[in-house]
Amino acid sequence: AEPVLEVRNLSVDYGFGDDPTHVLREVSLTLRRGEVLGLAGESGCGKSTLAYAATRLLPPPGLITGGEVWLTNREGTRADLLALSDAELRAARWRDIAIVFQGAMSSLNPVFRIEKQIVDGIVAHQPRMRREEARERAAELLRLVGISADRLRAYPHQLSGGMRQRVMIAMALALEPQVLIMDEPTTALDVVMQRQILEEVMELRERLGFSVVFITHDVSLLVEVADRIAVMYAGEIVETAAARDVYAKPRHPYSAGLLGSFPPLHGPRRELTGIPGAPPDLSAREPGCPFAPRCPHAMDVCRTELPVLGRTAQGEDNRLVACHLHTTASSTEPLPPSLSR
Ligand code: SF4
Ligand code: MG
Repeated sequence: AEPVLEVRNLSVDYGFGDDPTHVLREVSLTLRRGEVLGLAGESGCGKSTLAYAATRLLPPPGLITGGEVWLTNREGTRADLLALSDAELRAARWRDIAIVFQGAMSSLNPVFRIEKQIVDGIVAHQPRMRREEARERAAELLRLVGISADRLRAYPHQLSGGMRQRVMIAMALALEPQVLIMDEPTTALDVVMQRQILEEVMELRERLGFSVVFITHDVSLLVEVADRIAVMYAGEIVETAAARDVYAKPRHPYSAGLLGSFPPLHGPRRELTGIPGAPPDLSAREPGCPFAPRCPHAMDVCRTELPVLGRTAQGEDNRLVACHLHTTASSTEPLPPSLSR
């Protein structure tokens, strides 16, 4: 399938002047039509920053210092979101690309009924639509996410957390966007509710034909719902591959560690090992691989040379890894047993 969203070499700094912190470094990602791309990594690795920067919603002191974000709209027109005027961007956001934010369910206004909030949102983006029509659309949207239309009269506090999150998803889908970005959309909910909502979104995706970037620290969820996974560490993508390949054979030691840290919901439980140590301080970057201080396989070269995302020495299709074990000169050395499974 053709790409609907292509992030190219996106870089973000926090702070200005001589010593900014590089929180995203040349991140590139492709989301194909109909695909669910999972973005994984510990908190603080830049997942949310990527989502905010790609949609130009990054709050200060975040600053986009380079890159392109190409979005293909329903008519097949491609545009670089970072190059659009503010007016063009406002039109594209929600209509072509929508986000459900982390903690979105608490962003519903407590003093207004659900109906008013959905209708206002629709009318703001489709000024020519009559309110009556927008109300019908709001009812339709609620039904889409499994909520009976009579709940339109409810205030947010009268709905459960799961329902409020469904309302946010319904609002994001109001204009039938091509791309839906979900940033930890269900983290505040219990595991059963998380699964249920995600399954519903995946079903809607098949029916409505949108593509999804699903951001979470919980790799076990991604393994179940994503087609492809991109693993982020310290502001960089360190591995991308089909979800089943990442799961069956993580190549990057960090991916392997994440999978060890998060047992799957179904199937055999893996040993919960966790990853010792903490992510690096991005404001004091050392040369070499950012994962080296935590990596059980670190070699000399890892402390001096930054590994770049590339094809693996095994020449696998559709997998990119940024690790000296799998790329560059050291790839002639035998792999440690835990990585050559
Ligand atoms: Fe570990 Fe070296 Fe690979 Fe970094 S490049 S993940 S330190 S083996
Ligand atoms: Mg986040």
